[in-house]
Amino acid sequence: MMTERTRVLVAGGGPAGSMTAMLLAREGFDVVVCEKDRFPRYHIGESLLTSVIPLLEFVGALERVERHGFVKKYGAFFRIKHDQPAGYIDFTKLSRYPHSFQVLRSEFDAILLDHARTCGASVLEQTAVTSVEFEDSRPVAATTRSADGSSRRISFDYMVDATGQAGLLSARYFRNRQEEVAFANVAMGGYFRGARAYRDRHGVQHPGAFSMEALSDGSGWTWAIPLHDRTLSVGVVVHRDVYKHRRKAAHSLEDYFAKTLELSPDVTSLIYEASREGEVRSWRDYSYFAKAFAGPGYRLAGDAAGFIDPLFSTGVHLAFLGALSAAATICAVLRGEVSEETAQTFHERCLRQAYTRFMVTVAGFYCQIRSQESLVLPSVSRENFQLAFDLIQPIVSGNADVNSDEIPPDLLNRALRFATATMLEAHDIRTNVPVAKLMSTRILDDSITDRFAAIDGMFIRFDRGQLGLERVGAIGSMLVGARNRIIRGVIAVAG
Ligand SMILES: Cc1cc2nc3c(=O)[nH]c(=O)nc-3n(C[C@H](O)[C@H](O)[C@H](O)COP(=O)(O)OP(=O)(O)OC[C@H]3O[C@@H](n4cnc5c(N)ncnc54)[C@H](O)[C@@H]3O)c2cc1C
Repeated sequence: MMTERTRVLVAGGGPAGSMTAMLLAREGFDVVVCEKDRFPRYHIGESLLTSVIPLLEFVGALERVERHGFVKKYGAFFRIKHDQPAGYIDFTKLSRYPHSFQVLRSEFDAILLDHARTCGASVLEQTAVTSVEFEDSRPVAATTRSADGSSRRISFDYMVDATGQAGLLSARYFRNRQEEVAFANVAMGGYFRGARAYRDRHGVQHPGAFSMEALSDGSGWTWAIPLHDRTLSVGVVVHRDVYKHRRKAAHSLEDYFAKTLELSPDVTSLIYEASREGEVRSWRDYSYFAKAFAGPGYRLAGDAAGFIDPLFSTGVHLAFLGALSAAATICAVLRGEVSEETAQTFHERCLRQAYTRFMVTVAGFYCQIRSQESLVLPSVSRENFQLAFDLIQPIVSGNADVNSDEIPPDLLNRALRFATATMLEAHDIRTNVPVAKLMSTRILDDSITDRFAAIDGMFIRFDRGQLGLERVGAIGSMLVGARNRIIRGVIAVAG
């Protein structure tokens, strides 16, 4: 077998892999992307946060995504308690980017992968990375297998694992993935044609909105996402134990899905006159994190690094953030700006802090979803229920990660304090043990203080041709900060 060589090998061509490849190729580095499937291919994960917009813009893909005609998403409704109106996360607040998109992932992902090609990455579809070779603990080469049965050996300086839930490095080689037992969920979903548009409590239609609703018995929640092919993506998330128990009693997955939707009156009213198209699918929906997101010669990005329950539609946001951090830290080392250890630490902390904020917020809101009889959100009453959503808006819009220098620090810190206090109320559905006790210690150790500052005094320099890491306070950083305020805040604000 001949050995080919590239600077960076990206395993996986989903949003994390494509974005990493686009960023690195535009900086002039040789990148090979190996994607085991042929695109377009089906994928779940259709509702995006506004934070994806600046990254798509930076890599020159935004125009293509906009032209495609995906549904524009200006916000999201969350009915987490049945006797309360839905709370609203308004994307038009606190952001220069007032909307995001609801996307058919087959089409969105294909656009991104194709754009990676346009940016200069070499993209090999139907080519799976089947094994990785290490020297000491550093990955140095990979063997791939293509659909025609041929194999290649590709050696590299860096590998970015963007293989999604398959988790080539952490799940297969390092075996260091930690699951969050309180969020060992299962999801089911299908597509409905002829559904109604979502209406708020004043009867106003919100045709592009994401809507979420707690199941009336507190056992889980549903999503409804309008797509540009005029179908409505509808799904249910329940704990694995609830799923196993009730699935046994149902004739089929379809039957169980339909019965569960009956516990969701708002979604039922949306699809009352609609017909389901295609099969009902199910997904393993466990939240988990790799113990390390970076090491010598490698970075993890997207679901390969960690996965958080999709309550707040955070997957693609985190995939892009992981891609940006992976690309910037690799560029910084290859250009001799920082040491390998410094770059690894940056990537590790950058992701850990973002994951922690979301995980804490999700855990807290699950507490209310499961307690339908009582109001458990701290400082929130029936009269001011929307306050809970206004408080967490900076986190769950993705703004805390991409836009934090435009948001007053007291709002960011209030968001985090509220999310943390909410999480501390949460108990596991099966054992009634506080969720905080069940969550992996790394998550708790790492975070919950006010952390919207530069990471070890550095931030990502988000300038084309100079993507990398920069120390806060250097003259260059001030200039970059002024020109790219939004993205400078992706990772850091002078702290
Ligand atoms: C039920 C559910 C609902 C969700 N809803 C949302 C939502 O509304 N919004 C949102 O943002 N996110 C959502 N997500 C999360 C979202 O799906 C993921 O976070 C997102 O797809 C992560 O992108 P990625 O690039 O890391 O992984 P993926 O999109 O999974 O891409 C990984 C790619 O790697 C390829 N691959 C795997 N192994 C190999 C290999 N060995 N060699 C080569 N290629 C390989 C795969 O074929 C795949 O194309 C949801 C997830 C679930 C389970």
